[in-house]
Amino acid sequence: MKITDLKCAIIGNHPVVRIATDEGIDGIGAGESSKPYIKWHVLYYKDMILGEDPRDVERVMKRIRRRGAFKPWGTAVSAIEVALWDIAGKAAGQPIYRLLGGKVRDKVRVYNGNIRQKLKSYSPEDMAANMKWMKDLPHNFSIIKQGIAFHGDMATDTPDFYYGENVESYNYPNRGRMTERGLKHTIACVEAMKEVLGDEVGLALDVGPGVIPQDALKLAKALEHVNLMWMEDMITGDYTPYVLAELYRDVSINTTTPIHTGEQIYLRQNFMDLIEKRAVDVIGPDPLDVGGIAELKWIAEYADLYGIGMAPHGTLDGLIGTAALVQVSATLPQNYIAFELPNAEFEWWHDIIEGLPPKDQMVKDSHIDVCDTPGLGISFNDEAKKYLKEEDADFFTD
Ligand SMILES: [Mg+2]
Repeated sequence: MKITDLKCAIIGNHPVVRIATDEGIDGIGAGESSKPYIKWHVLYYKDMILGEDPRDVERVMKRIRRRGAFKPWGTAVSAIEVALWDIAGKAAGQPIYRLLGGKVRDKVRVYNGNIRQKLKSYSPEDMAANMKWMKDLPHNFSIIKQGIAFHGDMATDTPDFYYGENVESYNYPNRGRMTERGLKHTIACVEAMKEVLGDEVGLALDVGPGVIPQDALKLAKALEHVNLMWMEDMITGDYTPYVLAELYRDVSINTTTPIHTGEQIYLRQNFMDLIEKRAVDVIGPDPLDVGGIAELKWIAEYADLYGIGMAPHGTLDGLIGTAALVQVSATLPQNYIAFELPNAEFEWWHDIIEGLPPKDQMVKDSHIDVCDTPGLGISFNDEAKKYLKEEDADFFTD
């Protein structure tokens, strides 16, 4: 089997990858809906993989993996890797999880970091009311994540929150020492949210990046009594192109609150410091940024040896990303906690993707059933053509 084409179309705002072969089997992958600009980067790899056998996933990846980087520049490599696994699975007549060594669980736990209402304000009362709405969702989520401090607009919308100048730009560029008021406000909001959840639902926090290490430790210690699931990306994270494992370690070893990072990190080598120094308690690579499904699994296996948990990122990964997350999460060791449930960027995604349960039946009691359909277990139907842009009109034709 040979790769005959690599295409990328922007569907909604997702860069969607399709790899065609000379045997009529094709594979799909995608990047987050925040990254339509990645299309050229996908096509950049085309000449490097044409003619290769897509079932030899690692052999193909060796040709392109070195030319990726931290988020967002790991997206194209990752989306191609997912499409290769899709082909390998279809060719073998097996779901991807079988090719990765088989499943460890029949259903995978998901957490909510994505299905939310706009916050009225960053007051403890409004944050608690917002949390109540999420707790009451029919998904019956067992873990819910909320953004506080530098993640979201709390730091910039709350007067005298920190010593620093607000920069208006994408993905949380602000950083600085928090004021006493800022610290107290953050703690009050977290306590109010946890009050709503009780001990029935775990509370996770996305906190930065932008918290300085001393404040990160102060917050983590002050919130120990709340029994958080984790505090995420306090020091670095999101689009930060480095790790700073030592700073995380200083925080982690001095508090019982679990510390989490990793959604922006590309490749296993860049997780080594975090894992081997046991600098965090939970890591959250995203299969569509870290280098793909097999890369994420390798990192999870290695992290498990060091007692580190896995809670993969997924917010904007869409339905194709959901399928990839289900396949890989089914195979992870027992350090697996839950992945962050992506949702469809637009409702119509549910009309054009076949193979997933209907929207309102996909998540039952905070879990998704692992399906046995070959490959990713999903495919586009004819409706999808309606959503192709003119420049991508030949996306589904070979
Ligand atoms: Mg995050």
